Amino acid sequence: MKALVYNGPRDVTVTDVPDARIESPTDVIVRITSANICGSDLHMYEGRTDVEQGKTLGHENMGIVEEVGSGITRLKVGDRVSLPFNIACGHCRNCNRGKTAFCLEVNPGFAGGAFGYADMGPYQGGQAEHLRVPFADFNALRLPAGTEHELDYTMLSDIFPTGWHGTRLSGLEPGESVAIMGAGPVGLMAAMSARIQGADQVYVVDQHPDRLRLAERAGATPVDFSAGDPAQQIMEATGGVGVDRGVEAVGWQAHDHSGEEQPAGTLDTLVQVVRATGGIGVVGVFPPQDPNGPDELMQQGRLAFPFGQFFTKGLTMGTGQADVKKYNRQLRDLITQGKADPGFIVSHEMDLAQAAEGYRHFDAREDGWTKVVLHP
Ligand SMILES: [Zn+2]
Ligand SMILES: [Zn+2]
Repeated sequence: MKALVYNGPRDVTVTDVPDARIESPTDVIVRITSANICGSDLHMYEGRTDVEQGKTLGHENMGIVEEVGSGITRLKVGDRVSLPFNIACGHCRNCNRGKTAFCLEVNPGFAGGAFGYADMGPYQGGQAEHLRVPFADFNALRLPAGTEHELDYTMLSDIFPTGWHGTRLSGLEPGESVAIMGAGPVGLMAAMSARIQGADQVYVVDQHPDRLRLAERAGATPVDFSAGDPAQQIMEATGGVGVDRGVEAVGWQAHDHSGEEQPAGTLDTLVQVVRATGGIGVVGVFPPQDPNGPDELMQQGRLAFPFGQFFTKGLTMGTGQADVKKYNRQLRDLITQGKADPGFIVSHEMDLAQAAEGYRHFDAREDGWTKVVLHP
């Protein structure tokens, strides 16, 4: 079958790989209909992880069940399914608590497994014609049959739940205000989620005009940090009061306006603008170490952010990957009922064969390349 494999930094190709096959009775094989390129795929693409050569990338997957293992009781051939990027066993201590992003079984020695990702277990990704899905009765979410809402439902595998999770980690309540760092796909999903949850003011900080336009489309007030210090802009916009909540949706490769990496820059801003006793949700990726990175502290996974001010203001912070299964069923129903349309961020739909081109444009942050969906 055809799949997109990682060869080395900024080098990915679509090539023939061994067919996905049932390896355990609880597996299914899914024929992929949509697989998105994620901003977090770019960390691997840029050579900033230890992902192995030859790995098939892709953790944002949906498709049609094509084959079921002998232990599958719920799913049937022909079911249309969304696959959470987290692979979870469904019965370990963390899965039992609903913390499926931190499954203790699927990736021994580590809390959490995922499709097609560095350090997240031996699982191939779905930027391919077919995908093996472990513990599929537990992991797969069934979708209404047909092809309707394909670009909306395909956001259920990661970024819609992840954006939603960012707002929940921040403690957002109806009528509160929130500042979101980053208008990439996750930041935009956080903005839409905040609006659905009844936030009264949503500020989204970025410097790319195409993304800031989409932030406005999501009902948020865009804050362009190329026009000046974002903390100052938010303080001015709120009459010096600041916001109730903050969401970090950039991660450690955050840049300042000059293009220099500032791993703590986004948290620095949030600690300044979130009012005393407010909360911050961090869903941007921060790795345990970044040995080849430019920042000395971050090489060891350490981050210098204003902890003193954070403490003095009595702020709280929630962190970590989204437990997709905690949210995806409800978010699916919001889409089905026409109350959420996360597909609005999609700028490009491409054949799997063109995937390398998609990576190149998306990685270069070219104007208008906000989200790429591959159709094998
Ligand atoms: Zn993703
Ligand atoms: Zn588990």
